[in-house]
Amino acid sequence: MNIVILTGAGISAESGLGTFRSDDGMWSQYDLEEVATPEGFARNPALVHEFYNARRANCRGAQPNKAHLALAELEARHTGNVLIVTQNVDDLHRRAGSRNVLHMHGELEKARCVRCGHDWPAPGTMSVLDRCPKCRSGLCRPDVVWFGEDVRFLLEIEQAIREADLFAMIGSSGQVSPAAEFMMLARDNGADTIELNLERSGVADHARNVVLGPATEIVPKWVGRLVPLS
Ligand code: NAD
Ligand code: ZN
Repeated sequence: MNIVILTGAGISAESGLGTFRSDDGMWSQYDLEEVATPEGFARNPALVHEFYNARRANCRGAQPNKAHLALAELEARHTGNVLIVTQNVDDLHRRAGSRNVLHMHGELEKARCVRCGHDWPAPGTMSVLDRCPKCRSGLCRPDVVWFGEDVRFLLEIEQAIREADLFAMIGSSGQVSPAAEFMMLARDNGADTIELNLERSGVADHARNVVLGPATEIVPKWVGRLVPLS
């Protein structure tokens, strides 16, 4: 059985990383147009670095929670394929032990050259003074996908969803495209579908099952029905 799991900011909320639409937290203190668009970076790269440096520091201080750990155990114990497709730029799935993870919105822990596209592990603090270690001249940016930019691995993700027997969406509002369309793609290709979320998402009506609650409670329970958990 092939399992594809889409995760969003909600799975990391109980690790202390604010969700995108929560009223508190970092996203509400900054103007999205200024910190999460290529135009914002062109206008004020120092502000954009400040924002992502703070998010990286938060992330480094956070630990994977029971939901991340349960998904890692699912991958380890399930005899078929388990693929995690995440909208999160944190590395909590990897640190929980998941290996098969596609970061469709990039990664906070990577830096990229604006000029030559080379990428490398991000230092804790990035600055406008940094230059690319390869071409030595390019400006450096966080290797995350901003609004208006193409998401990563889209063809690969869509193919995996078409081949999925079970598709789960965890902790995502289902409002950011194209992730919002994955639930329908899975259903239309015959997969069983489930949403695990704090509140019903915009695509909950397309899921066969909806389980509501905090991810650290509902995800281990769901995984426990698929494989025995230690
Ligand atoms: P979102 O903020 O739009 O939605 C979060 C969802 O999680 C909501 O449906 C909410 O009900 C649910 N949720 C909140 N707390 C939860 C909990 N404890 N357990 C289960 N569910 C919970 O996030 P999104 O759908 O991922 O899309 C927003 C964008 O924001 C993405 O592009 C993502 O890259 C970015 N983002 C990433 C992070 C991160 O990397 N940790 C954090 C914030 C935003
Ligand atoms: Zn370069």
